[in-house]
Amino acid sequence: MYFKDKGIILGKRKISDSDVVMNILTVEHGKIQVFAKESSRGKSRANVVNQPFIYGNFDIKKGSKNYRLISVDIEKSYYSLRENLYSLSYGSYFLELVDKNLKEEMISKKIFLLLLKTLDGIEGNVENYIVIKNYFEMKFLYFYGVRPNIDVCLNCGEIGEKRYFSPEAGGIICNRCNVLYRDLIELEDEELLYMRDVLYNSLENILNLNISDNIVSKVDIILNRFILSHLACKKYKSLEFIKSLI
Ligand SMILES: [Zn+2]
Repeated sequence: MYFKDKGIILGKRKISDSDVVMNILTVEHGKIQVFAKESSRGKSRANVVNQPFIYGNFDIKKGSKNYRLISVDIEKSYYSLRENLYSLSYGSYFLELVDKNLKEEMISKKIFLLLLKTLDGIEGNVENYIVIKNYFEMKFLYFYGVRPNIDVCLNCGEIGEKRYFSPEAGGIICNRCNVLYRDLIELEDEELLYMRDVLYNSLENILNLNISDNIVSKVDIILNRFILSHLACKKYKSLEFIKSLI
């Protein structure tokens, strides 16, 4: 059976001199593993079309055991994103977060559009990599169904005068319930407001907020710890690389 679908290549791995297998996030078929031929000559079209980040219309054959790439019309190759070490590292992390957590054939049009929008956002946006990372992680968690609870105290349901965040419990804890938790991070009002903005607002709006670096970095730490507690994958190569750049 043949079908056409829009997709973004999340990653690829060589399985022999002439074959590669790619993980592609498609709109209608979810995340699928697709086999393709790779020419040994470096500059052939086959090598160009199976790079991570490629967004295009894929022609795919579904066999009894696997998917095979027939051809692809490239819509966007994210060339300039791949040319800059920082945007490449952050972009690679977004692909890796999706690739390692989405199950085979799990369909999410929201996550597809989020990935596309975030990759567009990170191209040339040197000042705001961490804000964009906050945005991507928060929205990914939301669409994936495990978002942090940042409305009321997880334990008593009150708003509380002073608040903390428990990565393990997955949300905010008030000053009356804090004795029950051991992994609390103190949360200032601006930090909580920023987290709500990231969860409920568009990327354009968040980028216009001009939030201080301290708040952005604090929320970055909170989201990283939340992800390690609540997603199946606990290790991201690209994230370790990002840490080595700072
Ligand atoms: Zn409470």
